Amino acid sequence: MKPAAFSYHRAHDVADAIGLLGELAAVGAEPKLIAGGQSLIPMMNFRLARPTVLVDLGPLRRDPAMTAIRRDGSQLRIGALSTHRAVETAGGTLGPEFDVISRAMRWVGHLPIRSRGTVAGSVVHGDATAEWCLLALLLDAVIVAEGPNGQREIPAAEMFHGFYATAVEPDEVVVEVRFTRPAPRAALTEFARRHGDFAIVDAAVSLDAADADRLAGGRVVLGGVSPAPVRIPEAEAVLAGGVPGPDLFTECGEAAAAAIDPPDDAAGTGAYRRRLTRTLVARALHEAWEKGVTR
Ligand SMILES: Cc1cc2nc3c(=O)[nH]c(=O)nc-3n(C[C@H](O)[C@H](O)[C@H](O)COP(=O)(O)OP(=O)(O)OC[C@H]3O[C@@H](n4cnc5c(N)ncnc54)[C@H](O)[C@@H]3O)c2cc1C
Repeated sequence: MKPAAFSYHRAHDVADAIGLLGELAAVGAEPKLIAGGQSLIPMMNFRLARPTVLVDLGPLRRDPAMTAIRRDGSQLRIGALSTHRAVETAGGTLGPEFDVISRAMRWVGHLPIRSRGTVAGSVVHGDATAEWCLLALLLDAVIVAEGPNGQREIPAAEMFHGFYATAVEPDEVVVEVRFTRPAPRAALTEFARRHGDFAIVDAAVSLDAADADRLAGGRVVLGGVSPAPVRIPEAEAVLAGGVPGPDLFTECGEAAAAAIDPPDDAAGTGAYRRRLTRTLVARALHEAWEKGVTR
C-alpha cells in the first residue's frame, strides 16, 4: 500500500522545524516530523497515519549536538538524531554504567533499520515493546523537548501514555535524551518469532548490590504486556534485600508474571505472554548479575 498524498519540507535547524510545525498547523495542515522514517513511513503506508505535510529533520544532522553521544558526569546524553547503529557501535563511550544500551541495540530490527532509525523517533513513537522505551524507564531517561515556548524536560516515568501515545506535543521537537541512572548490572532480553521482529515480550532489568551476598534492590521493566512499557513494583519488591541467585531470579520472574494482565492478540495469548515474562525476567536478571561477577 502507498501513503495518502502529502507535501514535504526540509527543516534547516530546530527553530525552523518548530516554526514550520506552527505555521503549517495554523493553516489547517496536519504536519508531522520525520527523522529516520522507519516507523512513520510504515504507519503511513498502512494508512494508520495520514499527515498532510512531512517536516524532515534530516538536515539537522549537520548540528553536532543532534547526533552527539557523550558522558556528562554520571549521565549519558544522546542527541535526538543519533541512530540505533551509532549507539550500538559506541560501546566504549557509554562505559560499563550504560553499556546495557549498546548491547540492547542488537534486538532492534535489522542493520538497515538500525542505520536509519533514531533514538528520539523511537521514544516519541512509543511502541510498547520498543527497546528504547524500556531503557528509558530502566535508566530514568529525561526527554528534552523544544517547542514554541522553549525547552522542557519530560521524565521517562511521565512519557508513555498508551498505544503509540507519548507526552511530546505535536509542536515540539525532541533534541536530546539523557539517561540519568547508571546501571552497571543491567540487561535487556526478549523473545520474537524471527530475529529483527518486534518483541512479543521484552524485559529490561537492573540490580543494585548492597554487598557481595545481598541486593539493595533492582528494577524490572516489561514491554509487550500492556499498552505502554511498565515497571513492575511487585517484582522489584522481591529483589530488595534478596540473596542474588537462581532461586531469587525465578521468584522475581514469577512475581512479574503474576502482576500482569497481558492482552491476547495475533502475536500470542495473554497466558503465553505471562509464561514468556516468567522466563525472560529470570534470564535477564541472571545476565545482569553475571555482568558484575569478576572471574
Ligand atoms: C521491519 C522493522 C522492524 C523494526 N523492529 C524494531 C524493533 O525490534 N524494535 C524497535 O524498537 N523498533 C523497531 N523498528 C522501528 C525502528 O526502531 C524505528 O527506527 C523507530 O521506531 C523510529 O525512529 P525513526 O527515526 O525511524 O522515526 P520516524 O519513523 O521518522 O518517526 C517516528 C515518530 O517519531 C516522531 N519523531 C521523530 N523524530 C522526532 C523528534 N526529534 N522530535 C519529535 N518527534 C519526532 C515522528 O513525527 C513520528 O511520529 C522496526 C522498524 C521496521 C521497519
